Amino acid sequence: MVHKFDALILGGGAAGLMCAIEAGKRGRRVAVLEHAERLGKKILISGGGRCNFTNIHCSAENFISANPHFAKSALARYTPDDFIALVEKHHIPYHEKTLGQLFCDRSAQDILDMLGKECRENGVQLFPKIAIHKVTRSDEFVATAAEQDFHAPALVVATGGLSIPKMGATGFGYDLARQFGLKIRETRPGLVPLLFGAEDGRHYTDLAGVSADVIAACNGQRFREKMLITHRGLSGPAILQISTYWRKPDSISIDLAPELAVTAELLESAAPRNIASLRTALRRFLPNRFADRWLELHAPKSWTNSSLQQLGRTIHSWTVLPAGTEGYGKAEVTAGGVDTDELSPKTMESRKVPGLFFIGEVVDVTGHLGGFNFQWAWASGASAGRAL
Ligand SMILES: Cc1cc2nc3c(=O)[nH]c(=O)nc-3n(C[C@H](O)[C@H](O)[C@H](O)COP(=O)(O)OP(=O)(O)OC[C@H]3O[C@@H](n4cnc5c(N)ncnc54)[C@H](O)[C@@H]3O)c2cc1C
Repeated sequence: MVHKFDALILGGGAAGLMCAIEAGKRGRRVAVLEHAERLGKKILISGGGRCNFTNIHCSAENFISANPHFAKSALARYTPDDFIALVEKHHIPYHEKTLGQLFCDRSAQDILDMLGKECRENGVQLFPKIAIHKVTRSDEFVATAAEQDFHAPALVVATGGLSIPKMGATGFGYDLARQFGLKIRETRPGLVPLLFGAEDGRHYTDLAGVSADVIAACNGQRFREKMLITHRGLSGPAILQISTYWRKPDSISIDLAPELAVTAELLESAAPRNIASLRTALRRFLPNRFADRWLELHAPKSWTNSSLQQLGRTIHSWTVLPAGTEGYGKAEVTAGGVDTDELSPKTMESRKVPGLFFIGEVVDVTGHLGGFNFQWAWASGASAGRAL
């Protein structure tokens, strides 16, 4: 069976659906080909089921890419306000949780229903359970599934990254990029929990569930948010954020007492210089169990000023050498991907292969935690959709 369209979109996630809607609005005949049994599965599990669909403080600084300027054009063409207008048009209740992060009041299903409705209203044809195994190109693109061929002069690859394979993630987008001669920046798990090395594992994993407000820093980046101890290592927003900048064998530096000069206070106060006073001081900003354990392992060698000052430096710069990450199975995103040098920043079209577009997470643009990855999916999807 042969289907003919103006554009084929591979992958019915956030980016693919937005692209389809924008192209549909322009009267294009669009097919979204999705191999899972339903579209937008990742949207449903996002933001703890409430979908952190954008961030009102979005700028290019919130993204990691070999070319930090690449995302600017698409982000300016489709802004958080544009997406908020769509959400409000559909009367979806939402709220700002923290740091500009917008979440649905009810459920992520609202966002998926909205995208589905927009697709229907704009004549987009959705094809779930279509596993494309081959794409060829002569005078047009042909995407081949089991017993069906889809033909179109334009092909948009929106197959996402490698994170959460059990939700349908595949490397098909990268395979297609290679097939058409486009370069790939090495991929790695991003926004992912980090694993302790053996020694830290022995010292801290029994504290799983304990969290603290910290600044996590690595490779010139720092994030002040919560850190969570897990059964295998460290997680929580501060660690997930810094994980995207971490590469083995880097260490990360953790400030356990942001804005507090713990030992300076002790040096100046009349309190006796002993473990009990220090423990009391640490318990003011760290959960008791963690404060006590950390102090056991970092007790000062003596009670001199310089020894206490050294301890203060260690509190503000606790060095952790992760053994690795929890991998794609637990990563919220895939960093790296199709090299942005290969694509037009205005349309996401390949510079080498006219009619071939890459959008969303498959591209080497990775957002910070907090709604930025969806904003990139909407913005890159809209840019391509308007160019089809
Ligand atoms: C647990 C979790 C929570 C998250 N929460 C948030 C959040 O709250 N806010 C935020 O901004 N970001 C969040 N993210 C990240 C966000 O979900 C992604 O960045 C975003 O979904 C990327 O959109 P995409 O369309 O590029 O890829 P995807 O949403 O991954 O869509 C790609 C689609 O392509 C399909 N596909 C793959 N291979 C093929 C193939 N060969 N043929 C046909 N179809 C194929 C997949 O099944 C999938 O439906 C979260 C991620 C995870 C894993």
